[in-house]
Amino acid sequence: MNELSFFKCGNCGSNVLRATKSAKLKTAVESVLPCKCGETVVAALRSELISAAVKQHGWLRDNRAIGPDRREEIVETGRDKKDKVSCGDCYKKNAGKLHLWKEARRAVQADQGEPDLTISCEGCGRQIEFGFAHRKSKGPIFLAEDDKDFQPWRIYPDPKYVDKWRERGWLRPMSPEEAAERLKLPVERVVGLINEGKLPRHKSAPQLSTDRYAVKAYLARPL
Ligand SMILES: [Zn+2]
Ligand SMILES: [Zn+2]
Repeated sequence: MNELSFFKCGNCGSNVLRATKSAKLKTAVESVLPCKCGETVVAALRSELISAAVKQHGWLRDNRAIGPDRREEIVETGRDKKDKVSCGDCYKKNAGKLHLWKEARRAVQADQGEPDLTISCEGCGRQIEFGFAHRKSKGPIFLAEDDKDFQPWRIYPDPKYVDKWRERGWLRPMSPEEAAERLKLPVERVVGLINEGKLPRHKSAPQLSTDRYAVKAYLARPL
């Protein structure tokens, strides 16, 4: 079983968490509808771009790591279709008959980025925010709710939760001195940026501070 000693859902009481990794996949397909009336050869050319999510399901285990992925599931998330028609009569008559379309080309393009990880309660299905104890290794996972060992400032949030955690003052504070070093700016300038709101001011740190994610975003801003 995957029952967890450190987690108990405040909503349903379950202590089992499902972990789902979702990667994006795009497939471009071109197919041809032949002309049957003799007007031309190809009645229509269809280009489709099919978006899908490849989901791998696993469980969070008591060592705060994700257990081996058990199942993989592919879910279509969108489909763009464009038809270029050369023979209107045949198209009108036959476009709906899928068996008449002949696939001419198929190209699969996997997403370059890392798969998105979500964690949800197996009992009630609600998504639960989480972060990692180690930023680089994406080490042990801690839950932002109903986890008895969760301490906000010590945990690095999954990237999709950074803004929410900043709003709550949960990100580890970064002093103006440390930010100045990263940004290669004088400390007074960094203090100014925080006061002007160009670097978000930490909401719960006792001293004037910002956070590492804000500094990183500031460094990457378009000039
Ligand atoms: Zn035709
Ligand atoms: Zn629950």
